[in-house]
Amino acid sequence: MNKPLSIKRILCCIVLATLVVAMIVMAATVMDLNTEVQRVSSLTPTPLPDYGSVFRVTPNPDAPTPEPVIRSGATGESVVKLQTRLQELGYYTGTVDGQFGPGTRSAVIAFQQRNNLQADGIVGPATTEVLYSDDALPAITPVPTPVPTPTPDTTSIAAIQQRLKDLGYYTGTVDGISGPGTRKAIMLFQEQHGLTADGIYGPATAAVLFSDEAHPILTTPTPDPALVPGLTADGFPILVNSDNPIPDDYRTVHLVDMRDYCDANVVKIKGSDIQGEKYAVDALMTMLRAARADGYTGWQVNAGYRSVQYQQKLFDDRVYAYRQEGMTGQQARAKVRQTVADPGASEHHTGLAFDLAITGEASFGATKQSVWLREHCWEYGFIIRYPADKTKITKISHEPWHVRYVGTEHSLIMRDENLCLEEYLEKYGN
Ligand SMILES: [Zn+2]
Repeated sequence: MNKPLSIKRILCCIVLATLVVAMIVMAATVMDLNTEVQRVSSLTPTPLPDYGSVFRVTPNPDAPTPEPVIRSGATGESVVKLQTRLQELGYYTGTVDGQFGPGTRSAVIAFQQRNNLQADGIVGPATTEVLYSDDALPAITPVPTPVPTPTPDTTSIAAIQQRLKDLGYYTGTVDGISGPGTRKAIMLFQEQHGLTADGIYGPATAAVLFSDEAHPILTTPTPDPALVPGLTADGFPILVNSDNPIPDDYRTVHLVDMRDYCDANVVKIKGSDIQGEKYAVDALMTMLRAARADGYTGWQVNAGYRSVQYQQKLFDDRVYAYRQEGMTGQQARAKVRQTVADPGASEHHTGLAFDLAITGEASFGATKQSVWLREHCWEYGFIIRYPADKTKITKISHEPWHVRYVGTEHSLIMRDENLCLEEYLEKYGN
């Protein structure tokens, strides 16, 4: 009888021991939690002495609850209010959707920059205060709202003909009737876009024709100087400067209205009356498309072809402005000649020179696009006509924005030998 009893005792002991261990573990957990609570509460800041306004942002339990900080990822009514206000001020051009995304953040940053606030894209108390006050400065140049381009009916023959005509492939009438002319234009377009040149308007051709990839027809430059404006009888680029005014009998061959002709997705044309010699404009478009492919966008043409009469007016206006500032006629003319050529002495008379700008940028020379242009224009037959290191020869201040088309057979040599046009013609011309 002793044996079963001792087994019972042992069992009792085990149960008791288990209970004791369980209680110890539970007690330890509770104590752990306590220490955690103590540790957390010890992190709560004790009110700091007043060090001045810089430190007043330290949470003070007595202060009224501050406006909540709104940042990327926030949603709801407060974001709607923010977007609406930024839109009013010209910073936000997106949809007022109550979603604080990248567009809203850029608008906040633009607002902060313009209003001398810390440009962190976060709407904190300082930004909020200025934003909803009467002191809030509106955006200088409101970012243009992207105009949704109407989707053309890519299956209508008239639309296809019109598109091919806009790009220079189709020269016939837009009559909605598919004939040999339309077929030939489609073939030409296909050839120049790496598509199967079968003249059949299939899905692949449609996809390219109505996309940004569609480029105007590329015409091989004709080497016959009689047909190519801007070349001398020997095939050299014509020199136009103060010592060499454009010949009286100089005639442009095919001026195009650039605003109609150029793809607005690639380049903005500042005035509706800016023209250019077609083959130079084509080269310009090829160049700017390449720039765009490299990630350099925002191009704008501020000047192209100018008649001698127009140049005269431009020159006289500038002289007048300097005379108003107190200069003598001679001083004013000398000053104007640093940036504006004498009538007859401007390269813009050729229709082969363009002044470029970047939309929204005041100084072209300070943009990354100008660096791209200086490095790559040569590959497309353009030269920076008035470089910084040649002002003594060109007698024109550095103009990083003024490009002149001369053709790659000349531009590449000028790049490789670092020659301005005057030097190049001196060395190789005549
Ligand atoms: Zn110019």
